Amino acid sequence: MNQTIEELVAFLSTPQKIVITMHRDPDADALGSSLGWGSYLSRKGHTVTVISPTDYAANLRWLPGMSEVMVYEKSGEMGKAKRRIDEATLICCLDFSALSRLKDLGKVVQEAKAPKLMIDHHLEPEHFAKWMIWDTGAAATAQLVYALIKEIEGDVPTTDIFDIPMAECLYAGIMTDTGSFRHGNVTSAVHLAVADLMLTGFDSSRVHRLIYDNSPLSRLQFLGYVLSQKLIVLPEYRTAYMVLTEAELQRFNSSTGETEGIVNYGLQVENVVMSALFIERKGEVKISFRSVGEFSVRDVSSTYFNGGGHRNASGGRTETSITETVELFLSILPKYKDELLQVD
Ligand code: 5GP
Ligand code: MN
Repeated sequence: MNQTIEELVAFLSTPQKIVITMHRDPDADALGSSLGWGSYLSRKGHTVTVISPTDYAANLRWLPGMSEVMVYEKSGEMGKAKRRIDEATLICCLDFSALSRLKDLGKVVQEAKAPKLMIDHHLEPEHFAKWMIWDTGAAATAQLVYALIKEIEGDVPTTDIFDIPMAECLYAGIMTDTGSFRHGNVTSAVHLAVADLMLTGFDSSRVHRLIYDNSPLSRLQFLGYVLSQKLIVLPEYRTAYMVLTEAELQRFNSSTGETEGIVNYGLQVENVVMSALFIERKGEVKISFRSVGEFSVRDVSSTYFNGGGHRNASGGRTETSITETVELFLSILPKYKDELLQVD
């Protein structure tokens, strides 16, 4: 056991008031890892509150424990959330490495007196946490939560530690962050973690269905529109991109979360190495990037679009117009051309 985990175990030997939070617009890994960790801590006798900085996609509402999650931005919940953070004796920060990823909640967490525990797999973390369980080699934060719990519990059999709801939460995070076990971040440790969690008897196929085959018809129709009308491929740069304006999102009544995953379709085009999705929403432009192989979209998003993330999946945002944002993107492609052409 390393020193961080030893200190953590000692700290958790008495009941604590624990807040768990995750990055804004949380995905299945952010929420699944938080709920899985929260469930474990509750079972150990701690008082746990899970707070999301913002609302989340509808296909994650079924995750076990979700009804208890507080949404900081929601009217009526902010005061209570602030009080919980104020009273907390530990704040767990899951699936993000910079406080700016918490939107308005970032300042509240920064100013809170409780020690912080970061559990994360993003590159270049800020050093705001007393304890850091941080590994960029992990495919998902949920994988880190699984490994942390296993390490704390030592020889205790898996089925005595994890129940079905916990396993579903952690599996949801690992499944989505690996693109259903197809990305380059899949390792034997990923499969071993999943194999072990499956001893609880949870239905992995059901988890997949609830997340991926659970779309309103309107989302599929919107996807059809995007793929047929909005997907632009630049073969000379092995790049695909899509631009969605606020007006288009309104026309299709597309809410946050319904655009999740659309960026991946760009990578399905033959020879494409980088895919980008530009979304104009509430006065800012949110950009998602995906890539394959050695090409780093994290470099693109952190250098030009105030963002970050992983080598093959990153995001950013700008406050300039969507036209200017896309122009900037197109203007930097020549700089990356050699690297894009080199990928196998
Ligand atoms: P997505 O495109 O799904 O929103 O994000 C892909 C990855 O990039 C995730 O790992 C996410 O944490 C990271 N990411 C997305 N948006 C931002 C951002 O604005 N800033 C930073 N630092 N990372 C981001
Ligand atoms: Mn993650």
